Amino acid sequence: MSKVILKKGREESLLRFHPWVFSGAIAQLTGSPAEGDVVSVWASDGSLLGCGHYQIGSIAVRMLSFGQEHIDAGFWTGSIGAAFEARKAFCLVDSDNTNCYRLVHGEGDGLPGLIVDFYDGVCVMQAHSVGMFRARKQIAEALRSVYGPALKAVYDKSSGTAPFKAGLDLVDGYLYKAEGFESSEAVVLENGHKFLVNWNEGQKTGFFLDQRENRARVQKYACGRNVLNLFCYTGGFSVYALAGGALHVDSVDSSARAMAMVDRNVALNGFTAHTSYCADAIEFLGKCEEGKYDLMIVDPPAFAKHRGVLKNALRAYQRLNAAAIAKVAPGGIIFTFSCSQVVDKEAFALAVFSAAASVGRRVRIMDRLCQPADHSVSIYHPEGEYLKGLVLYVE
Ligand code: SAH
Repeated sequence: MSKVILKKGREESLLRFHPWVFSGAIAQLTGSPAEGDVVSVWASDGSLLGCGHYQIGSIAVRMLSFGQEHIDAGFWTGSIGAAFEARKAFCLVDSDNTNCYRLVHGEGDGLPGLIVDFYDGVCVMQAHSVGMFRARKQIAEALRSVYGPALKAVYDKSSGTAPFKAGLDLVDGYLYKAEGFESSEAVVLENGHKFLVNWNEGQKTGFFLDQRENRARVQKYACGRNVLNLFCYTGGFSVYALAGGALHVDSVDSSARAMAMVDRNVALNGFTAHTSYCADAIEFLGKCEEGKYDLMIVDPPAFAKHRGVLKNALRAYQRLNAAAIAKVAPGGIIFTFSCSQVVDKEAFALAVFSAAASVGRRVRIMDRLCQPADHSVSIYHPEGEYLKGLVLYVE
């Protein structure tokens, strides 16, 4: 196994369980590891710090273990088993009304570079690092041993997430299928509501599981309201709003495929007071009549994927929120979100504050929202916090 020896003093963050070794912290690399190989990491005084996946780039090692552990089948079963135990503690396993959740959330579960979402027996994995992509078969085996016969399939959907520069053979497909399993979509239950999830064709792993609790919050406030769900994807917030007694919901997304799923999801749950619009959400909001809606959901894609575009992203959040605040009816409620990891909650709140001030309406913060427990954040890796939201009451 190749050795990574750190510069003096650069072991500090690893001693506090931060899972990344930056290339600039490395004094010496022995051997010539291939991308995705497991390497051991050592402090300058010769003490072993642990091991992790090596990769060319600014994050040179993603730590898997902070001890002497071997990265073998026992490691994968142990780590995935620990993630499963945590989901049991979060009351997501064997729940009567929810059978989909995130099983592995990268660094938050001590498995940097790996995402696994569970859809009623089907695990959909995405590798964000070369090491996790190369370990996909061991990961599938570990999922089989953790779930046992409850596992229907493991689908690898890393083609859009694994680093393509590494020259990997990125073809999505099944790593495991139980006998008789033939499907690329499932109807899952989330808080008792039915949703079609298509891991093959959908965005990310097929569904945005991170909004589960925030959708329930929308349901709570929706009674008697006229709702506009912007950037609705497959209509998660729309179904909850209808279940909460909304008078009518208009859902908007620029993806025609997503809009077709919204219609199916609304029908699956037996609702009719709904209209779908395949359109640009910002243009739709710009054209919509003032005061028509008294509950809005604004959940755009990440405007900033990296720090370089942070300023522009903050301006975009400000403009979008100003338009929503200007248009919502008096006494209206706005659920507004940012899923950009580089936009922290203070910066997002400031963008929304500037938006409110520019429109000149009285706005209160009813609630502050975040990602749910299964999108785990390690206390040693606060960078894992990415979803933030505000619930605004606009006079
Ligand atoms: N609220 C959703 C998740 C939103 S993800 C849920 O609960 O599941 C962001 C969505 O924004 C994606 O579905 C994407 O298709 C859509 N999108 C991106 N740019 C858009 C634009 N300019 N106008 C409308 N939709 C857009």
